[in-house]
Amino acid sequence: MVKVDDIYHDLILDLFHHRCVRCGKSSETVHELVPRSRRPNTWWFPSNRVVLCFECHFWSHSRGAKSSADELRNLREKRLKEYLDPVQALVNLFNDLPGDFDTWEEIKNEPYG
Ligand SMILES: [Zn+2]
Ligand SMILES: [Zn+2]
Repeated sequence: MVKVDDIYHDLILDLFHHRCVRCGKSSETVHELVPRSRRPNTWWFPSNRVVLCFECHFWSHSRGAKSSADELRNLREKRLKEYLDPVQALVNLFNDLPGDFDTWEEIKNEPYG
């Protein structure tokens, strides 16, 4: 008998082009947003899983599922949209805020040099 985990593991890797949803580095590691212990019957659902690289996997586990899950869920959505629509990927790239800012409001209020 083939375990459901084995089927979905490869599917998840393909879904995310074998790339970390957080930083884009290539990876073969699948992570569950809500851990198996909390979702014993449904942890394997594709909607609960993403690909993470070694560093980002370490990051998410050291932060804890609770605080990393929302961020990873957003990244998951974003990546899937990008893979479906390369034009959207370009739009996202141009809409990304510069590293030090959280909102466009902050950028507007930044004093000039
Ligand atoms: Zn990563
Ligand atoms: Zn994990």
